[in-house]
Amino acid sequence: FEHILEVKDLGIQFKTAEGFLSAVHGISFNVKRGETVCIVGESGCGKSVSALSLIGLLPNNGEVYKGAIKFQGKDLTKLTSDEIRKLRGNDISMIFQEPMTALNPVFTIGYQLREPLKIHQGLNKARANQVAIDLLRQVGISVPEQRMKQYPHELSGGMRQRVMIAIALACNPKILIADEPTTALDVTIQAQILELLNDLKQRFETSVVMITHDMGVVAEVADRVIVMYSGEIVEQGDVETIFNHPEHPYTQGLLASVPNVDLEQDILEAIPGTMPNLEEQISGCRFHPRCPFATDKCRETKPDIFSIDQHDVRCWLKEAEADGQASRIISN
Ligand code: SF4
Ligand code: MG
Repeated sequence: FEHILEVKDLGIQFKTAEGFLSAVHGISFNVKRGETVCIVGESGCGKSVSALSLIGLLPNNGEVYKGAIKFQGKDLTKLTSDEIRKLRGNDISMIFQEPMTALNPVFTIGYQLREPLKIHQGLNKARANQVAIDLLRQVGISVPEQRMKQYPHELSGGMRQRVMIAIALACNPKILIADEPTTALDVTIQAQILELLNDLKQRFETSVVMITHDMGVVAEVADRVIVMYSGEIVEQGDVETIFNHPEHPYTQGLLASVPNVDLEQDILEAIPGTMPNLEEQISGCRFHPRCPFATDKCRETKPDIFSIDQHDVRCWLKEAEADGQASRIISN
């Protein structure tokens, strides 16, 4: 398989007192082996639920209502919860923003590292212990033998995140899903963790799907970038293209709202307005209430996805360039 992960027209909805609300309206993207794909967008755009759906961890009131998630050709949406549990922590691992929610406070670090190795890899306790110590060393933890005996609350935030990465990597996963893994950490530790992830990705050839709202993080780790807005992908392409030639007005706004390092000046130009709530019906382009270029067509008709210069853009502005350069790849 050229793509280790293929997400096709994925739709996710939540059951509420008022009925079903769609949070993700049909997104498609692929992940290659050894590649880091960053999914970016404001909070509430659907990036976290999209990530959770990849490992069958949607909240109880959430469900995939359409589309497919193919991992090495196998559709994960068709697996039983037992089958997906076997993949989780083994072929597909996840790290979270706050390691305390993922680490168990009543077990030692050593226990939590050994368990997946025993369950998924069938190692005995002594061997699992050796591998666990080695993993801690690989994620940059000194005196790992001592850390093995400690409990999560005895470690600093940065150290806990390293432990969680070690646990996630324990079974040599093919895909690592990381949801804002550095958001809770201070800037120096954040830089160290991102460096660690880049380094591990190369060493283990793991594909990484990273969820973030921080374009600085994207610049550090991404090979490819997916920009989500209000439950849809509005633009995707390789990292250089997205940073140097963003085509979607929303992406342009996102980039303008972070300090521009190249120009060495802070351009803090927030995008006016807020993202619509799930229950809000928006006609046409979901970004039109905030878009400086919106036309009547934008307000009435949902834009198609146009493919131009190696990247895909859901915006009617691109239709005008359809003089052989841009091609329409998806209608609505
Ligand atoms: Fe703006 Fe129209 Fe493009 Fe939507 S389709 S982003 S409203 S120009
Ligand atoms: Mg989130």
